[in-house]
Amino acid sequence: MPMRIGVLSLQGDYLAHAAMLRQLPGVDACHVRDAGELAEAQGLIIPGGESTTIGKLLDRAGLIEPIVQRARGGMPVYGTCAGLILMAERIEGSEQHRLGLMDMLVARNAFGRQIDSFEAAIPVPLLGADPLRGVFIRAPYVVEAGPGVEVLARYEDRIVAVRQGVFMASAFHPELTNDVRMHRLFADMVRSAQSGGR
Ligand code: GLN
Repeated sequence: MPMRIGVLSLQGDYLAHAAMLRQLPGVDACHVRDAGELAEAQGLIIPGGESTTIGKLLDRAGLIEPIVQRARGGMPVYGTCAGLILMAERIEGSEQHRLGLMDMLVARNAFGRQIDSFEAAIPVPLLGADPLRGVFIRAPYVVEAGPGVEVLARYEDRIVAVRQGVFMASAFHPELTNDVRMHRLFADMVRSAQSGGR
């Protein structure tokens, strides 16, 4: 039986995530738009897009509580870009809807106007010696990570990828490259959560 990993498909670049997941052996991707579809998924990706819009649509779909409940029960969740913002407990200067699963403070659109969008080689030691091609699009970054949060990557001195137990987040968009390593890492997290923990 393949694992089913859900991609929150309310707004943003969810198709790119689903295509990425489908490249991984033993992984089936499904779209999550309501609580019924969430129930079918063993892990969940929150895509990039517009975090205030995704937050509103999550609220309207009645999905915030069910996702938080599943997550607290051990379902792995990975957020990219807008998804990273939604994963954070604290968002600088904003009261927007969020999942708030990770102990961190994030800043939105944090790289400034001049470098709104850019690409950079990002070393992620957990994934080996080869850096990732980090695609940043009006990206956030992590201003403060709580003591339980593992820093996976930095760009210059800013934290751009983190993990806390079964939760992971990155400011960049690995789904817009052809490097499957972040998705494979997440699939491994889902697999080990299925087999009863890490
Ligand atoms: N700037 C967006 C936000 O604040 C995130 C951008 C993205 O996901 N590419 O929600």
